[in-house]
Amino acid sequence: MSTLTRALSLIDPDELVALTRDLVRIPSVVRPDDPSANESAVAAHVERWMRAQGFDVEVQDVAPGRPNVLASLGDRAAGPTLLLEGHTDVVTEGDPAAWTHPPFGAALADGKIYGRGAADMKAGLAAALIAAVAIKRSGASLAGRLVVGALVDEEGDMLGAKHLCTTPIGRELSAAIICEPEQNELCLEQRGVVWARVTARGRMAHGAMPEAGANPITALAALIADAPRLERRLRALCARSRYLRPPTVTPTVIAAPVAGVPQSNVIPAAAQATLDVRLTPGPDAETVTKEIDEACRRAADACPGVSVEWTPVNGFRLATRVERTEPLVRAMVGAVRKVTGRPARWGGVPGSTDGTILRMELGIPIVTCGPGHRLIPHQVDEHVEVAELVDAARIYAAAALAYLKP
Ligand SMILES: [Zn+2]
Repeated sequence: MSTLTRALSLIDPDELVALTRDLVRIPSVVRPDDPSANESAVAAHVERWMRAQGFDVEVQDVAPGRPNVLASLGDRAAGPTLLLEGHTDVVTEGDPAAWTHPPFGAALADGKIYGRGAADMKAGLAAALIAAVAIKRSGASLAGRLVVGALVDEEGDMLGAKHLCTTPIGRELSAAIICEPEQNELCLEQRGVVWARVTARGRMAHGAMPEAGANPITALAALIADAPRLERRLRALCARSRYLRPPTVTPTVIAAPVAGVPQSNVIPAAAQATLDVRLTPGPDAETVTKEIDEACRRAADACPGVSVEWTPVNGFRLATRVERTEPLVRAMVGAVRKVTGRPARWGGVPGSTDGTILRMELGIPIVTCGPGHRLIPHQVDEHVEVAELVDAARIYAAAALAYLKP
């Protein structure tokens, strides 16, 4: 029996389902007003579980109660280091009464596991853990090192991924599989995002005498009316992609006054709006900055006496792309064929992920591939199909063995 066949035979679907359900049952919604609502319990579970399997485990304190957990197998001196990456935080469940199955009950019904985080992404994380464990149990020798990373704060500011990039084990990474729910498609491209927080500053005045002031709200109205033009300009700069929707510019937040009490007869001194700007590969941060600067200038020009400035919230997350010739991509393509008996299906990631940070900060190739429907994250009745979950674990094991083949 080949090493690969042995490792695949050691992936136990029941063990994988049980681990996924255990992870879903540990709520890990981060609630800023509740210091105990974070990733600590699920991270501790991953740590305990991987230590019990005999892995070397490193715990990185990213913030109080918010640790990254990294479990390693193999020898870094023997070759490249491959990361299987998942995040431990989940988004809010919303109104539990709106769910068919309790959001943290991990119900198993009709071949699916239900719950908040079932797809995004405790399934992908469990599949990565089980794949690594199967490789370890198979006794396969690796030309390099396999690391499973359970990171914090993907749904927030991606503090876990940013922290990882500053640590020795992070800087030693050669490539990463991002186990986000993408229907087990191989995604080589991810859209980027910039949240442009725009501040318009004018002059306070009485609402009955607008000529005495300069209304920042009017400037924001001009900016928002002009958003389709910014979108068209960005579309012209970005590469067309078969797998990604073209760039979009979407106003998502608007606020005025920025300070003080809202009053119907007072023109405020300042107003703010946020534009959610999505990008496809092509332009660099400087080029995107210039386009948003221009849009702000046009809005200011439309409203004498008002200045319009913007800053990126949480910096730039540019779109990413890797080539099909990358050894990691080739390993994944072979793994999909071996496990499913069919050629790889290609896809694209509509938003940014921890992989965006790894690609931007470390320059390493990333492939996003994991169980769960692409559109199901953050919805009520989130679920993952068990068959897809098992395939994912098998694909990860086969890809890791190919990539780290002696
Ligand atoms: Zn996710």
